[in-house]
Amino acid sequence: ASKEEGRNRFHFFTQQMQQDAERTAVIHTALRLALDLEAFELNFQPIVSISTGEIVRAEVLLRWKHEGTYISPEHFIPIAESSGLIVEIGQWVRKEAMKALLELQQINLGFGLSINVSMYEFWSHELQDNLVKSIEDIAVDLTTNPFPFESMVIEITESLLMKNNHHSIQSLTKLRDMGLKVAIDDFGTGFSSLSYLSKFPLDQIKIDKSFIQQSDSDIKQQALVTAITTLSQALGLDVVAEGVEIELELDFVKQAGIEFVQGYYFYKPMSKSELKTLIS
Ligand code: C2E
Ligand code: MG
Ligand code: MG
Ligand code: MG
Repeated sequence: ASKEEGRNRFHFFTQQMQQDAERTAVIHTALRLALDLEAFELNFQPIVSISTGEIVRAEVLLRWKHEGTYISPEHFIPIAESSGLIVEIGQWVRKEAMKALLELQQINLGFGLSINVSMYEFWSHELQDNLVKSIEDIAVDLTTNPFPFESMVIEITESLLMKNNHHSIQSLTKLRDMGLKVAIDDFGTGFSSLSYLSKFPLDQIKIDKSFIQQSDSDIKQQALVTAITTLSQALGLDVVAEGVEIELELDFVKQAGIEFVQGYYFYKPMSKSELKTLIS
């Protein structure tokens, strides 16, 4: 009987894997098509400075409308990453975002945008070189004036820090030499050591919402966030709190000494035209 059971279980697993593979293939094809049909859209979520109350910039968030409904990037980005399509999607995002940045600065000079870049675009030396070059090329295509790179933040994740790869440090340094800023997204969810904060060419950390949202109930969590904030600021980094939804969380963020806030408490992600109205 146990042999039979084993066979059944094996059968179940292979069937499951087969289904997952088919699902991935279907989504991959749909994403490919989405690029051609321009079924992607950008949303923008404002980031607020606590001391001035002003919106200083917005994070660019990708949206995919598939068969009438929006699919979360949490679902389709991993598939785009595993199939390599993330490179093309990333390029599309950066081109549209850089276009939007020029438009937004017509209304509000100095306004900034933060753009997510997948660590898969740092996978090889070649991909990294392409990333830097494509940003330069887009800028040249879009304007004959110097592009306002200093208003553009690239968000990467901790896992890239942990690879601690010499070439990725060089690529980030190149981007910073162009004027771009580098942020660590979802800080605290990976397992990077705090010493990376001083070793890497960084300008900003974004503390993950899981730390902010438990902040009201957990005193140790509060101590941790306050310590990370103090340390980061001592290293000259800007600190952004992600996922602030309620007043209690905002109070906590203020107490921790965090200067920038992104979250539903202030604004949800919105369309470009809504953002334009908001900042004009
Ligand atoms: P992220 O970069 O950490 O973006 C912040 C996410 O938190 C966004 O989810 C945003 O809508 C959500 N958020 C903001 N404020 C709140 C809040 O107060 N409460 C809650 N519960 N959520 C809040 P979104 O747009 O679904 O994006 C999810 C993730 O997908 C992003 O996390 C990022 O990792 C990835 N992503 C989105 N756009 C892109 C893109 O253009 N390129 C790449 N490579 N990844 C992207
Ligand atoms: Mg982000
Ligand atoms: Mg984040
Ligand atoms: Mg995230």
